[in-house]
Amino acid sequence: MKYFDAHCHIQFDAYDADREELVRSMDEQGVGGLVVGVDRVSSEQAIKLVEKHESLFAAVGLHPNDCPEEVFTVSLYRELASHPKVLAIGECGLDNYRPEDPEATKRKQREVFEQHVQLAIETDKPLMIHSRPSKGTQDAYEDTIDILKSYKREHGDKVRGDMHFFVGGVEEARQFVDLDFTLSYTAVLTFTQDYDEVVRFAPLTHLLSETDSPYVAPAPNRGKRNDPRAVQAVIGAIARIRGEDEEMVRDQVLQNAERLFGATLRGLK
Ligand SMILES: [Zn+2]
Repeated sequence: MKYFDAHCHIQFDAYDADREELVRSMDEQGVGGLVVGVDRVSSEQAIKLVEKHESLFAAVGLHPNDCPEEVFTVSLYRELASHPKVLAIGECGLDNYRPEDPEATKRKQREVFEQHVQLAIETDKPLMIHSRPSKGTQDAYEDTIDILKSYKREHGDKVRGDMHFFVGGVEEARQFVDLDFTLSYTAVLTFTQDYDEVVRFAPLTHLLSETDSPYVAPAPNRGKRNDPRAVQAVIGAIARIRGEDEEMVRDQVLQNAERLFGATLRGLK
């Protein structure tokens, strides 16, 4: 394996017609990935898929606002998390992007997020965090940092993880890195310069590559279905923005994934 897509959703319906073909092509290009659940059904589908493929792994969790009808049942996710190919808990987090959400929704999000943090500690697995601030603020990151800090005080290294689709600034990046969290970037880096400052600021040891497929296809395919092979364009963009050798960046980012997820990836095809 040469590249690891730390956050994709290739268990979604969008891939029903050609999923096996896609995974074969990923294998040919040396691309592995973490297939991330957003609710019970997609977490179970992720596990089913990764059981069939050496280069794929899963994360199980309940997205903060994609599936408001599901009640988070800890025992169910604990059972899913016990699968040997489940490497992370999530995606979970705090999403304030919809300002019309009532306070009760925010309270529930916080409660469910803390249940994920507790499950990650209990199972000693990293968190895959989706937190999204409301426009023009860093509110969801500030709250996420507060929660992680308080658990970290008591549980130390058992609290670790990745900030998926990170859109925070340098100050938030500094705090997550201090908590030993990685920051992951998608192919948005190929069509906006909004994140360049943070990509340059972050230590290379704390960056991961991801695609969030089927979303955020790289330029020039914007708006089309994305897939994990685009993680190669993400590595290219990180290297270009930082002015570093692409092969060195590729190798370090793969090592970062091995460290965070506790998996040996480089030996896999
Ligand atoms: Zn996602």
